Amino acid sequence: MRAVEHGTSDRRRWVPTAVWIERGEEESSLARRVRGRLPDSPVCIVEDPRVAEPQTFADGKRRLVIQRRRGSFLQHCPAGITGMVCCNYLVMNFASNCPFDCSYCFLQDYLANNPALKAFTNVGDGLAELDDVLRAHPERTFRVGTGELADSLALDHLTDLSCELVPFFAERRNALLELKTKSDDVDNLLGLDPKGRVVVAWSLNARAITAAEEPGTATLDERIRAAARVQAAGYLIGVHFDPLVAHEGWEAGYQEVIAALFRTVDPRRVAWVSLGSLRMTSTLKMAMRARRHGIQLLGSELVPGVDGKERVWRGLRVKMYRRMLEWLRQVDAQMPLYICMEPAGVWNTVFGAAPADREVAQRLVAARQ
Ligand code: SF4
Repeated sequence: MRAVEHGTSDRRRWVPTAVWIERGEEESSLARRVRGRLPDSPVCIVEDPRVAEPQTFADGKRRLVIQRRRGSFLQHCPAGITGMVCCNYLVMNFASNCPFDCSYCFLQDYLANNPALKAFTNVGDGLAELDDVLRAHPERTFRVGTGELADSLALDHLTDLSCELVPFFAERRNALLELKTKSDDVDNLLGLDPKGRVVVAWSLNARAITAAEEPGTATLDERIRAAARVQAAGYLIGVHFDPLVAHEGWEAGYQEVIAALFRTVDPRRVAWVSLGSLRMTSTLKMAMRARRHGIQLLGSELVPGVDGKERVWRGLRVKMYRRMLEWLRQVDAQMPLYICMEPAGVWNTVFGAAPADREVAQRLVAARQ
């Protein structure tokens, strides 16, 4: 992976081997910013961005395609339509695919037919679409994330997308933006005022899992340092222990991560913590096998759930959630916590009750206001 130095962070950033730009978008502000940051990268202008689709998923992660997005930017998180307790999360897709290469990443399956790493130029169209929703429902507060089909910050050193998103959300009273990442690319954020409307969230895992299964991402210590920097700059942070992996030594591994995190960041400035178990589908396992990825994880004993996804059996999931809950509550008894992509029965066993749909989101939004 090629890399360049960027900003005040000491981490080296991803750069593509080539940039492909849809004709007509060469002078878009996003394309100009990317070209300015990558003066030595080859640039190819294409009439139809579909010709930039790579042959393999791995090739897709090496180059960057800049194009307009056709169709809606906004999606609803799928949990609510698959029998899981829903936290009413809206997803904004300003990019597609990710330069990192986690072995368990569902994008290997979800984007198998269009794996190009894309950044979309018409960001204003996406924000206008969201604005219509926010204005139509002033009585509701929406959690909105950009980290579903992409890592929210992995391209920020090239696109400066956060410099458009943070000021937009800072002026909205009924929305919270979540930037979800495994990078430590927070330099842009430090100069912006989120006015309490932006949560920067890190996916964290035991060191053994991060080292073996999350190539290209920032290390655990780099992520924690970045979290402390954005907290000091006025942001709330979020934490996702997802996917929790039942590996040998998981209890010591996850307990150590919690201790390392809260030695450095202030638990009272944590907006939410989510817990989620490793989830696989048969097609994701096929994609992983084809790429010889996640061999250790493919050996896990998993059972199918009502949503068709496979997880470790319920008894072990509940044990893992309870242990995590116990360690997190020892840090802060008021820590806002939820579990992700689990049916009401698991919520009942872990928390003693399952919230109604929408209630999770409203509780989380209210927790640290
Ligand atoms: S950081 Fe997220 S989007 Fe990127 S490869 Fe890992 S799991 Fe996939």
